[in-house]
Amino acid sequence: MNLDDANRLDAADPLRSLRELFTLPEGVTYLDGNSLGALPKATPPRIAKAVEVEWGQGLIKSWNTAGWIDLPQRLGDRLAPWLGARPGEVLVADSTSVNLYKVLHAALQLQQGQRRVVVSERSNFPTDNYIAQSVVRAHGGELILVETPEDIPPLLDERCAVLMLTHVNYRSGRMHDMALLTRWAHQAGALAVWDLAHSAGAVPIDLLGAAADFAIGCGYKYLNGGPGAPSFVWMHPRHAGQVWQPLTGWLGHANPFDFDSEYQPAPGIQQYQCGTPAVLAMTGLETALDVFDAAQKLGGIKALRNKSLALTEAFIGAVEERVPGAVIATPRDAAMRGSQVSFGLPRGTDGYAVMQALIARGVIGDFRAGDPELLRFGFAPLYNGFADVVRAADAIADIVTTKSWDAPEFTSRSKVT
Ligand SMILES: *Cc1c(COP(=O)(O)O)cnc(C)c1O
Repeated sequence: MNLDDANRLDAADPLRSLRELFTLPEGVTYLDGNSLGALPKATPPRIAKAVEVEWGQGLIKSWNTAGWIDLPQRLGDRLAPWLGARPGEVLVADSTSVNLYKVLHAALQLQQGQRRVVVSERSNFPTDNYIAQSVVRAHGGELILVETPEDIPPLLDERCAVLMLTHVNYRSGRMHDMALLTRWAHQAGALAVWDLAHSAGAVPIDLLGAAADFAIGCGYKYLNGGPGAPSFVWMHPRHAGQVWQPLTGWLGHANPFDFDSEYQPAPGIQQYQCGTPAVLAMTGLETALDVFDAAQKLGGIKALRNKSLALTEAFIGAVEERVPGAVIATPRDAAMRGSQVSFGLPRGTDGYAVMQALIARGVIGDFRAGDPELLRFGFAPLYNGFADVVRAADAIADIVTTKSWDAPEFTSRSKVT
């Protein structure tokens, strides 16, 4: 595929008009929407209105008149169909790490001390495993980390309380079969907690169909809510009223404005709210969800998934063809692939420096340390196209074959990688 072929495919793409809803800098090929989604054009004026009109003029009245107080539920209801959940089951609040803490505690409580082992993957995003370490300490339990997904089934035994997995692995882009693993966990008497950070807005999700127990996910990746946008949390309705999530703040109370001295949990997912919502951050996420409404009219998640798979497949092919020594770490089997492609480079090639050299040329992906080191490229079907695939593959090939990465301005490291 060359740039002409790519431009033809982009011109025929039924989702092409969605790219126009985003601000993308001239000359930049942005392939890091799995880390920080791009800015919807409607977001700056909408946040400005929230600041100047709702806050500036409306002051405290805006909790009611601008609907600030309902943002966590309103956004949850709008996200629900993208998660295979129903309105009233999803809440938007806090960060992914904090929501994981809440649901993991709740899941262990449901096991009533009969089972205390949490099973996850060593390659899970570190914050998930760090949070799990704290939660198992509090419950006198144990976190067991497997090296590969194939090691999971033997650990689903009478000691296993919770299977905690990230649906799409942040490094490899490998996607788990949520329904199958949830079923295996349930057959063993364990509960299933799913992190949808790299799934929501990019791949089809069916939480109710899978009969999962709890789920959380991120608002600033494929959902484009903006840096630090709040996270979402879901609990299967069968668990409503069965447990207390541990962060028992006033807005998770059944009647917060009674200012009662005794905590009484709100029913259902509402209890997962802790304190006051971050209104400006929520407003960013709410505006980003308008783009998903537009995507819904053009075929919804099915159309997004088809495009995402076509983009990642084209990129895998282009990298294999053009980049000497590249070892693809992402499954070629579409059913096992999220919306990103990662690959390693031969020993002696500094992947970090390659990424810095790429960024200097306007191609933005990211680098993930570890063994192997990986270059990672996220394909956001809302705004990426086939021309992005070709531009990125050509630039990587040139940097690797000419070794132009081997220069001091590319090899020295900054704080956020
Ligand atoms: C991005 C990501 C997070 C982010 O957590 P924060 O609390 O928002 O920093 C958590 N888990 C996974 C799997 C992620 O990919």
